[in-house]
Amino acid sequence: MKAQLPTAIFLDLDDTILDDTGSVARCWREACEQYAPQLGPFTPEEINDAIRTYSSWYWGDANRHRQGRLQLELARREIVEETLRRLGAERPEIAHQLADRYSVLREEAMEPFPGAIDALHRLRELEIRLALLTNGNAISQRRKIDKHQLHIFFEIILIEGEFGVGKPDKRVYLHALEQMKVRPAETWMVGDNLEWDVAGAQQAGILGIWHDFQGTGLPASNTVKPDRIIRSLTDLVT
Ligand SMILES: [Mg+2]
Repeated sequence: MKAQLPTAIFLDLDDTILDDTGSVARCWREACEQYAPQLGPFTPEEINDAIRTYSSWYWGDANRHRQGRLQLELARREIVEETLRRLGAERPEIAHQLADRYSVLREEAMEPFPGAIDALHRLRELEIRLALLTNGNAISQRRKIDKHQLHIFFEIILIEGEFGVGKPDKRVYLHALEQMKVRPAETWMVGDNLEWDVAGAQQAGILGIWHDFQGTGLPASNTVKPDRIIRSLTDLVT
């Protein structure tokens, strides 16, 4: 087993260790159901659909995504406020309450993928050295790491909001390699984001493994070529 594994593995957090996407639809639905009665003629479904549509547009731009994820709660408030304004229901205070409710529900719902924690324990038993490389806001990422006691697995934890730049910036990978004193050729990176986790790592000479947690296969529009595709972290240790 050990012979097939590298000296070090870098791991992404959201949608790699923690199931981030799995609760999105339910949490928006719940938040919309709670606040729709205060928003006039609109059904919860209409508000939900409008938020999801505007949200897709909002997060579809790389620069907006970066700004937004570094101040996630604020970004969600802006998304809901603008959605309601476009619907003709300009109610900023309700928009903020709805967005905040969604943020609370998302954080409560976020759990490790089945088998993920066991896989991390197994990798440490095999003396594979681990680093966590995550984009996003420092406070919320630290809160997730603390809640799930993830710090025990990692020699270094690099968070975009603390480091100053995020994946796929090569500096993230180079810094992690330097801190760990490992060479790219003896390192793997595992994550769900083809640009950030796979292409970013490959640019630094690290083997890029795509975590296809939804089992959808590579998107038709994708140009990134993962060195390996896994369905769960368990695949690394079985
Ligand atoms: Mg991720």
